Amino acid sequence: MTEQQTMTPLAAQLQKLAQPAPQATYKKKSSWRISSLLRSATCWFDTTTKSYSEAETDDKYSIDWLRMIPYAAMHLMCFGVIWVGWSPVAVIVAAALYAIHMFAITAFYHRYFSHRTFKTSRVAQFIFALVGASCVQRGAIWWAARHRHHHRHSDEEDDIHSPHRHGFYWSHVGWITSKAGFDYDAKAVPDLMKFPELRFLNRFDNLVPLIEAVMLFFFGMFLEAYGWNTSGFQMLIWGFFVSTIISSHATFTINSLTHMWGTKRYKSKDESRNSLLLALLTFGEGWHNNHHYYPGAVRQGFYWWEIDLTYYGLCLLARLGIIWDLTPIPRNVRESHQL
Ligand SMILES: [Zn+2]
Ligand SMILES: [Zn+2]
Repeated sequence: MTEQQTMTPLAAQLQKLAQPAPQATYKKKSSWRISSLLRSATCWFDTTTKSYSEAETDDKYSIDWLRMIPYAAMHLMCFGVIWVGWSPVAVIVAAALYAIHMFAITAFYHRYFSHRTFKTSRVAQFIFALVGASCVQRGAIWWAARHRHHHRHSDEEDDIHSPHRHGFYWSHVGWITSKAGFDYDAKAVPDLMKFPELRFLNRFDNLVPLIEAVMLFFFGMFLEAYGWNTSGFQMLIWGFFVSTIISSHATFTINSLTHMWGTKRYKSKDESRNSLLLALLTFGEGWHNNHHYYPGAVRQGFYWWEIDLTYYGLCLLARLGIIWDLTPIPRNVRESHQL
Protein backbone atom coordinates (compact mmCIF):
# COMPACT_ATOMS: atom_id res chain seq x y z
CA MET A 1 0.00 0.00 0.00
CA THR A 2 1.29 3.50 -0.83
CA GLU A 3 1.53 6.39 1.63
CA GLN A 4 -1.29 8.21 -0.21
CA GLN A 5 -3.65 5.27 0.14
CA THR A 6 -3.04 4.91 3.93
CA MET A 7 -3.65 8.66 4.57
CA THR A 8 -6.88 9.70 6.31
CA PRO A 9 -8.95 12.46 4.61
CA LEU A 10 -7.92 14.91 7.35
CA ALA A 11 -4.22 14.15 6.94
CA ALA A 12 -4.56 14.51 3.15
CA GLN A 13 -6.23 17.90 3.67
CA LEU A 14 -3.44 19.04 5.98
CA GLN A 15 -0.80 17.96 3.50
CA LYS A 16 -2.57 19.91 0.74
CA LEU A 17 -2.55 23.02 2.93
CA ALA A 18 1.18 22.58 3.49
CA GLN A 19 1.78 22.96 -0.26
CA PRO A 20 3.08 26.40 -1.44
CA ALA A 21 0.28 28.89 -1.97
CA PRO A 22 -0.80 29.47 -5.58
CA GLN A 23 0.54 33.06 -5.30
CA ALA A 24 4.02 31.72 -4.64
CA THR A 25 3.80 29.58 -7.77
CA TYR A 26 2.72 32.64 -9.76
CA LYS A 27 5.64 34.69 -8.40
CA LYS A 28 8.08 32.00 -9.37
CA LYS A 29 6.68 31.85 -12.92
CA SER A 30 6.66 35.63 -13.24
CA SER A 31 10.27 36.05 -12.12
CA TRP A 32 11.24 33.25 -14.50
CA ARG A 33 9.60 35.21 -17.31
CA ILE A 34 11.45 38.41 -16.39
CA SER A 35 14.82 36.68 -16.28
CA SER A 36 14.03 34.98 -19.59
CA LEU A 37 13.15 38.37 -21.07
CA LEU A 38 16.38 39.87 -19.75
CA ARG A 39 18.32 36.96 -21.20
CA SER A 40 16.65 37.56 -24.57
CA ALA A 41 17.46 41.28 -24.34
CA THR A 42 21.18 40.48 -24.38
CA CYS A 43 20.73 40.28 -28.17
CA TRP A 44 20.66 44.11 -28.06
CA PHE A 45 24.33 43.99 -27.11
CA ASP A 46 25.59 40.68 -28.45
CA THR A 47 24.02 39.59 -31.73
CA THR A 48 25.37 36.04 -31.43
CA THR A 49 23.05 35.29 -28.50
CA LYS A 50 20.14 34.94 -30.88
CA SER A 51 19.70 32.68 -33.88
CA TYR A 52 16.55 31.83 -35.77
CA SER A 53 15.19 28.56 -37.06
CA GLU A 54 14.70 28.07 -40.78
CA ALA A 55 10.93 28.24 -40.28
CA GLU A 56 11.25 31.64 -38.59
CA THR A 57 13.38 33.16 -41.34
CA ASP A 58 11.27 31.56 -44.08
CA ASP A 59 8.34 33.64 -42.85
CA LYS A 60 9.45 37.02 -44.22
CA TYR A 61 6.88 38.95 -42.20
CA SER A 62 7.68 37.50 -38.79
CA ILE A 63 8.78 40.46 -36.63
CA ASP A 64 11.25 40.17 -33.76
CA TRP A 65 9.42 42.55 -31.41
CA LEU A 66 11.98 42.43 -28.62
CA ARG A 67 14.98 43.00 -30.84
CA MET A 68 13.46 46.00 -32.62
CA ILE A 69 12.77 47.92 -29.37
CA PRO A 70 16.03 49.98 -29.34
CA TYR A 71 15.51 51.13 -32.92
CA ALA A 72 11.86 52.01 -32.29
CA ALA A 73 12.95 53.87 -29.12
CA MET A 74 15.44 55.91 -31.17
CA HIS A 75 12.54 57.24 -33.25
CA LEU A 76 10.65 58.24 -30.09
CA MET A 77 13.74 59.97 -28.69
CA CYS A 78 13.64 62.40 -31.64
CA PHE A 79 10.58 63.96 -29.99
CA GLY A 80 13.00 65.05 -27.28
CA VAL A 81 13.59 68.21 -29.35
CA ILE A 82 10.31 69.46 -27.82
CA TRP A 83 11.99 69.59 -24.40
CA VAL A 84 15.64 70.33 -25.22
CA GLY A 85 14.95 72.96 -27.89
CA TRP A 86 17.50 73.74 -30.55
CA SER A 87 20.65 75.81 -31.03
CA PRO A 88 22.76 76.58 -34.11
CA VAL A 89 25.65 74.47 -32.82
CA ALA A 90 23.43 71.42 -32.15
CA VAL A 91 21.88 71.61 -35.62
CA ILE A 92 25.31 72.06 -37.28
CA VAL A 93 26.67 69.00 -35.44
CA ALA A 94 23.58 67.00 -36.50
CA ALA A 95 24.05 68.06 -40.15
CA ALA A 96 27.78 67.24 -40.05
CA LEU A 97 27.04 63.81 -38.61
CA TYR A 98 24.40 63.24 -41.29
CA ALA A 99 27.11 63.87 -43.90
CA ILE A 100 29.61 61.57 -42.14
CA HIS A 101 27.02 58.80 -41.74
CA MET A 102 25.83 59.05 -45.32
CA PHE A 103 29.36 59.01 -46.71
CA ALA A 104 30.29 56.06 -44.46
CA ILE A 105 27.31 54.02 -45.63
CA THR A 106 27.72 54.68 -49.34
CA ALA A 107 31.51 54.76 -49.57
CA PHE A 108 32.41 52.10 -47.02
CA TYR A 109 29.48 49.78 -46.32
CA HIS A 110 28.18 49.83 -49.89
CA ARG A 111 30.99 50.50 -52.36
CA TYR A 112 33.79 48.91 -50.33
CA PHE A 113 32.45 46.11 -48.12
CA SER A 114 29.55 45.04 -50.35
CA HIS A 115 31.06 45.50 -53.81
CA ARG A 116 34.85 45.82 -53.26
CA THR A 117 35.09 48.60 -55.86
CA PHE A 118 38.46 49.79 -54.47
CA LYS A 119 41.26 48.53 -52.29
CA THR A 120 42.68 49.76 -49.01
CA SER A 121 44.89 48.72 -46.09
CA ARG A 122 43.65 46.56 -43.23
CA VAL A 123 43.92 49.47 -40.78
CA ALA A 124 41.84 51.73 -43.03
CA GLN A 125 39.37 48.89 -43.56
CA PHE A 126 38.88 48.66 -39.79
CA ILE A 127 38.41 52.44 -39.51
CA PHE A 128 35.87 52.30 -42.36
CA ALA A 129 33.94 49.57 -40.49
CA LEU A 130 34.16 51.56 -37.26
CA VAL A 131 32.77 54.76 -38.80
CA GLY A 132 30.13 52.69 -40.61
CA ALA A 133 29.08 51.07 -37.33
CA SER A 134 28.33 54.53 -35.90
CA CYS A 135 25.45 54.85 -38.40
CA VAL A 136 23.34 52.30 -36.44
CA GLN A 137 22.84 50.16 -39.54
CA ARG A 138 24.42 47.16 -37.86
CA GLY A 139 27.82 45.72 -38.72
CA ALA A 140 29.59 45.82 -42.09
CA ILE A 141 29.32 42.02 -42.41
CA TRP A 142 25.54 41.98 -41.91
CA TRP A 143 25.11 44.99 -44.22
CA ALA A 144 27.21 43.53 -47.03
CA ALA A 145 25.63 40.06 -46.77
CA ARG A 146 22.11 41.48 -46.98
CA HIS A 147 23.08 43.80 -49.82
CA ARG A 148 24.73 41.08 -51.90
CA HIS A 149 21.53 39.07 -51.45
CA HIS A 150 19.57 42.06 -52.79
CA HIS A 151 21.70 42.16 -55.96
CA ARG A 152 21.34 38.43 -56.50
CA HIS A 153 17.55 38.51 -56.15
CA SER A 154 16.58 42.12 -56.85
CA ASP A 155 12.82 42.49 -57.19
CA GLU A 156 12.30 38.73 -57.12
CA GLU A 157 10.18 37.08 -54.42
CA ASP A 158 13.31 36.34 -52.36
CA ASP A 159 14.34 40.02 -52.30
CA ILE A 160 13.36 40.93 -48.76
CA HIS A 161 13.11 44.66 -49.51
CA SER A 162 11.50 44.84 -52.92
CA PRO A 163 8.60 47.34 -52.96
CA HIS A 164 7.17 45.42 -55.93
CA ARG A 165 6.94 42.20 -53.93
CA HIS A 166 6.31 43.38 -50.39
CA GLY A 167 4.97 46.94 -50.61
CA PHE A 168 6.51 50.31 -49.75
CA TYR A 169 6.48 50.15 -45.94
CA TRP A 170 8.07 46.71 -45.83
CA SER A 171 10.76 47.59 -48.40
CA HIS A 172 11.58 50.82 -46.57
CA VAL A 173 11.75 49.82 -42.92
CA GLY A 174 9.54 46.82 -42.15
CA TRP A 175 12.06 44.20 -43.25
CA ILE A 176 14.68 45.49 -40.81
CA THR A 177 12.43 44.54 -37.90
CA SER A 178 11.86 41.00 -39.15
CA LYS A 179 13.63 37.82 -38.10
CA ALA A 180 14.56 37.20 -41.74
CA GLY A 181 16.03 40.71 -41.87
CA PHE A 182 18.09 40.29 -38.70
CA ASP A 183 19.45 37.04 -40.10
CA TYR A 184 22.20 36.94 -42.73
CA ASP A 185 24.11 34.34 -44.68
CA ALA A 186 27.75 34.32 -43.58
CA LYS A 187 28.59 32.24 -46.68
CA ALA A 188 27.81 35.31 -48.80
CA VAL A 189 30.69 37.25 -47.22
CA PRO A 190 33.69 34.90 -46.80
CA ASP A 191 36.03 37.76 -47.76
CA LEU A 192 34.85 39.73 -44.69
CA MET A 193 34.34 36.86 -42.24
CA LYS A 194 38.05 36.11 -42.21
CA PHE A 195 38.81 39.34 -40.31
CA PRO A 196 38.27 38.97 -36.52
CA GLU A 197 38.03 42.74 -36.03
CA LEU A 198 35.12 42.90 -38.49
CA ARG A 199 33.43 39.93 -36.80
CA PHE A 200 33.80 41.72 -33.45
CA LEU A 201 32.14 44.92 -34.72
CA ASN A 202 29.42 42.82 -36.33
CA ARG A 203 28.81 40.88 -33.14
CA PHE A 204 28.58 43.91 -30.83
CA ASP A 205 26.93 46.19 -33.34
CA ASN A 206 25.45 48.60 -30.79
CA LEU A 207 28.76 49.25 -29.05
CA VAL A 208 30.03 52.01 -31.37
CA PRO A 209 26.66 53.85 -31.46
CA LEU A 210 26.52 53.69 -27.65
CA ILE A 211 30.00 55.23 -27.35
CA GLU A 212 29.05 57.86 -29.94
CA ALA A 213 25.93 58.81 -27.96
CA VAL A 214 27.88 59.13 -24.69
CA MET A 215 30.59 61.21 -26.39
CA LEU A 216 27.98 63.57 -27.87
CA PHE A 217 26.36 64.02 -24.46
CA PHE A 218 29.67 64.99 -22.87
CA PHE A 219 30.57 67.17 -25.86
CA GLY A 220 27.35 69.14 -25.30
CA MET A 221 28.14 69.49 -21.59
CA PHE A 222 31.67 70.63 -22.43
CA LEU A 223 30.39 73.29 -24.84
CA GLU A 224 27.85 74.48 -22.28
CA ALA A 225 30.58 74.82 -19.64
CA TYR A 226 32.52 77.06 -22.05
CA GLY A 227 29.55 79.36 -22.63
CA TRP A 228 27.94 77.85 -25.73
CA ASN A 229 24.18 77.91 -25.92
CA THR A 230 23.63 74.14 -25.80
CA SER A 231 23.56 71.23 -23.33
CA GLY A 232 24.44 67.56 -23.06
CA PHE A 233 20.87 66.42 -23.68
CA GLN A 234 20.39 68.81 -26.59
CA MET A 235 23.54 67.54 -28.29
CA LEU A 236 22.49 63.93 -27.65
CA ILE A 237 19.03 64.42 -29.15
CA TRP A 238 20.16 66.37 -32.21
CA GLY A 239 23.60 64.87 -32.82
CA PHE A 240 22.71 61.26 -32.18
CA PHE A 241 18.99 60.56 -32.42
CA VAL A 242 17.77 63.09 -35.01
CA SER A 243 20.85 62.80 -37.22
CA THR A 244 20.90 58.99 -37.14
CA ILE A 245 17.19 58.56 -37.82
CA ILE A 246 17.23 60.98 -40.77
CA SER A 247 20.37 59.44 -42.30
CA SER A 248 19.01 55.91 -41.89
CA HIS A 249 15.71 56.78 -43.58
CA ALA A 250 17.63 58.50 -46.38
CA THR A 251 19.55 55.25 -46.85
CA PHE A 252 16.32 53.25 -46.80
CA THR A 253 14.97 55.27 -49.74
CA ILE A 254 17.48 53.37 -51.86
CA ASN A 255 15.71 50.10 -51.04
CA SER A 256 12.25 51.53 -51.45
CA LEU A 257 11.97 54.65 -53.63
CA THR A 258 14.82 54.00 -56.09
CA HIS A 259 13.00 50.85 -57.14
CA MET A 260 9.84 52.91 -57.74
CA TRP A 261 10.61 56.48 -58.83
CA GLY A 262 12.86 57.95 -61.50
CA THR A 263 14.12 57.04 -64.93
CA LYS A 264 15.49 53.79 -66.26
CA ARG A 265 18.52 54.12 -68.54
CA TYR A 266 19.64 50.50 -68.70
CA LYS A 267 17.89 47.24 -69.28
CA SER A 268 18.30 45.49 -65.94
CA LYS A 269 16.37 42.51 -64.61
CA ASP A 270 14.89 44.65 -61.83
CA GLU A 271 12.88 47.85 -61.39
CA SER A 272 15.82 50.06 -60.32
CA ARG A 273 15.65 53.75 -61.25
CA ASN A 274 17.87 56.85 -61.46
CA SER A 275 16.84 59.92 -59.49
CA LEU A 276 18.80 63.18 -59.13
CA LEU A 277 16.87 64.15 -56.00
CA LEU A 278 17.67 60.87 -54.23
CA ALA A 279 21.26 61.03 -55.50
CA LEU A 280 21.67 64.43 -53.83
CA LEU A 281 20.05 63.22 -50.61
CA THR A 282 22.15 60.07 -50.43
CA PHE A 283 25.45 61.34 -51.83
CA GLY A 284 25.22 59.48 -55.15
CA GLU A 285 23.20 56.37 -54.34
CA GLY A 286 20.20 57.69 -56.28
CA TRP A 287 21.81 56.57 -59.56
CA HIS A 288 20.50 53.17 -58.69
CA ASN A 289 19.68 51.90 -62.18
CA ASN A 290 23.29 52.66 -63.19
CA HIS A 291 24.45 50.77 -60.12
CA HIS A 292 22.30 47.69 -60.74
CA TYR A 293 23.48 47.60 -64.33
CA TYR A 294 27.16 47.63 -63.35
CA PRO A 295 27.60 47.18 -59.55
CA GLY A 296 31.35 46.75 -59.82
CA ALA A 297 32.03 50.41 -60.63
CA VAL A 298 33.21 52.74 -57.89
CA ARG A 299 31.12 55.59 -59.29
CA GLN A 300 27.37 55.46 -59.57
CA GLY A 301 26.91 58.71 -61.48
CA PHE A 302 28.22 57.41 -64.81
CA TYR A 303 28.39 60.81 -66.53
CA TRP A 304 29.94 64.06 -65.33
CA TRP A 305 26.53 65.68 -64.89
CA GLU A 306 25.32 62.87 -62.61
CA ILE A 307 26.35 64.31 -59.26
CA ASP A 308 27.95 61.65 -57.07
CA LEU A 309 29.38 63.22 -53.89
CA THR A 310 30.65 59.88 -52.59
CA TYR A 311 32.73 59.35 -55.71
CA TYR A 312 34.33 62.78 -55.31
CA GLY A 313 35.14 61.95 -51.67
CA LEU A 314 36.67 58.62 -52.71
CA CYS A 315 38.81 60.39 -55.33
CA LEU A 316 40.12 62.57 -52.50
CA LEU A 317 40.90 59.52 -50.35
CA ALA A 318 42.73 58.03 -53.36
CA ARG A 319 44.74 61.26 -53.77
CA LEU A 320 45.74 60.98 -50.10
CA GLY A 321 46.88 57.38 -50.70
CA ILE A 322 44.33 55.90 -48.27
CA ILE A 323 42.57 53.87 -50.99
CA TRP A 324 43.65 52.69 -54.43
CA ASP A 325 42.68 50.61 -57.48
CA LEU A 326 39.29 52.29 -57.93
CA THR A 327 37.31 50.27 -60.48
CA PRO A 328 36.03 52.53 -63.29
CA ILE A 329 33.00 52.02 -65.48
CA PRO A 330 34.33 50.84 -68.88
CA ARG A 331 33.25 53.23 -71.63
CA ASN A 332 31.86 50.46 -73.89
CA VAL A 333 29.84 49.03 -70.99
CA ARG A 334 28.51 52.45 -70.09
CA GLU A 335 27.31 53.07 -73.67
CA SER A 336 25.72 49.67 -74.20
CA HIS A 337 22.27 48.30 -73.37
CA GLN A 338 20.79 51.76 -72.98
CA LEU A 339 17.03 51.96 -73.42
ZN1 LIG B 1 18.47 47.95 -55.54
ZN1 LIG C 1 24.88 47.65 -54.45
